[in-house]
Amino acid sequence: THFGFQKVKEGEKEHKVHKVFEDVAKSYDLMNDAMSFGIHRIWKDIFIHRLSPTENTNLLDVAGGTGDIAFRFLNYAQNSNYKNCTATICDINSAMLEEGKKRAIKLGYSPNSLSWIEGNAEKLPFNDETFTAYTIAFGIRNCTHIDKVLDEAYRVLKPGGRFLCLEFSHLENSVAQWIYDQYSFQVIPVLGIFIAGQWQPYQYLVESIRQFPNQETFKAMIEAAGFRIVTYENLTLGVVSIHSGFKL
Ligand code: SAM
Repeated sequence: THFGFQKVKEGEKEHKVHKVFEDVAKSYDLMNDAMSFGIHRIWKDIFIHRLSPTENTNLLDVAGGTGDIAFRFLNYAQNSNYKNCTATICDINSAMLEEGKKRAIKLGYSPNSLSWIEGNAEKLPFNDETFTAYTIAFGIRNCTHIDKVLDEAYRVLKPGGRFLCLEFSHLENSVAQWIYDQYSFQVIPVLGIFIAGQWQPYQYLVESIRQFPNQETFKAMIEAAGFRIVTYENLTLGVVSIHSGFKL
């Protein structure tokens, strides 16, 4: 069996996830485009619109990788003329953060508006009530203890702060799910070989999506962490879903 379908020992998942993202860091952005036909860009744009940041938003983007969400957030703030918006990108993998820093320089973002911090979503290196918004995109699925991630999100948010998660989810329709499964299990690992030179990280990706709780179960987990007004919205028939909650 592959990792994801077996019970893994404590710490083993974290180690494997670390290795996966170290291996794919350089080809990560290209693979995202290839696997999703570029649609991940639209999902991320919608995600930031749902966040609807305002002036003085102090965002923590966890599992922020190469900065996709943080960059979109800063663009949104700039286009809306909102002042004093900052983003902290926290990721467990320094190789992903290094790629992100290079991209930030190339794209011309001010170093004052971005911080890159290595850290684990399950034990964040930040004080209580530090941020006004918390995002995690395509990251929570990779964590060993989802409940710890949610508790930490709650802890570092200020009262009134918003939690928003973008993650692969479960399709609303069983025929669509079947077609999606064929694509996931047969096409994605092959794309991995051609683009990134390896199939294992992409096999892992597909399996981890299947293991992740469905929309309703995940909603209940967010509520159990203390968040209020918890809602979700499916995009592309539930290929991904956006979960939202507030610390009130
Ligand atoms: N959010 C980015 C995006 O949407 O493009 C990156 C998503 S990438 C699929 C998942 C990221 O989660 C990787 O950069 C990986 O290093 C990070 N990650 C995995 N486990 C983590 C953990 N326990 N704490 C923090 N980051 C983690």
